[in-house]
Amino acid sequence: MKILKLRQKPRILRGLQYLDKRLELDHDNKRMLSNLEKGLLGESLFDEYISHFIYSEVLVLNDLLLVNKGTTFQIDSLMITLDTIYVFEIKNYSSSFVMSDGEFQSISGQTYQNPLIQLAKVKRNLESLLSEWGIHIPIEANIIFINSTFFLYEAKLEDPMIQPGQIELFLTSINKKARNLEKRHHYLARKLVEAHNTGAIIQKALPNYHYNHFKKGLTCLNCGSFNLELTQRSCYCNSCLNKNLLKEVILDHIYEYQFLFPEHKLTVTNIKDWCGSDISINSIRTVLNQHFKLIGYSRDAHYE
Ligand SMILES: [Zn+2]
Repeated sequence: MKILKLRQKPRILRGLQYLDKRLELDHDNKRMLSNLEKGLLGESLFDEYISHFIYSEVLVLNDLLLVNKGTTFQIDSLMITLDTIYVFEIKNYSSSFVMSDGEFQSISGQTYQNPLIQLAKVKRNLESLLSEWGIHIPIEANIIFINSTFFLYEAKLEDPMIQPGQIELFLTSINKKARNLEKRHHYLARKLVEAHNTGAIIQKALPNYHYNHFKKGLTCLNCGSFNLELTQRSCYCNSCLNKNLLKEVILDHIYEYQFLFPEHKLTVTNIKDWCGSDISINSIRTVLNQHFKLIGYSRDAHYE
């Protein structure tokens, strides 16, 4: 098994996590953050299943964003085997759901978008794209319900859904059918990565924010807490007991600052203000010198 495209944290999720540490997010953004975190957790768990149970010759591509005739579609996980392309839509829903008359509902009565409709669209778009590329390998698309607490009442045998207790068996059955791949499979994998890199980018916008509204200071790399104790070289978190080198923490805060304020100049003074008063100018300058290039002199000096 070879992973040709790794999963990355979505930009919107990274941004919302930064905002959540230092600002009061409104209810909708809090909910979006929690859904995105839960989604990524589920996808990462499926990645673990794949690396654990798939040992045959298959190519894995995660988190593809593709465009077919102007329509953008996303694939959580795609697996290329000799005679089948597997597409997985991963859902991290917890507790019990019911599917009746095409309605997908939680047992408490909340209606969700029917994941089968979404899956069918993804499959259609991929089929059309591959046929345009002259590739004719059958596609099998499935929804993976990854959360061990999930249970679906009134599921039909023919519905392409794999419930938590079936995932292991499903993946091991792929090994049994798998044979050595050919050149055309590697060509397809390269073509998909290429299409992902040149395709459209869905960029959900972060809520508006202003520098002055942020709580400044160092935060824990693990849990985001401001409750830290610093020594000359290390940073201890009193909330989660995580320990990091101080220079790692400063570097992470520089990346955070660049992410949130790409229009601001990277200077020792700006980073000092962002990291708060507990940290020395010298420590910040050392990290900036190690990882960035100093441009200009005296008052114009900044890093890139
Ligand atoms: Zn912590």
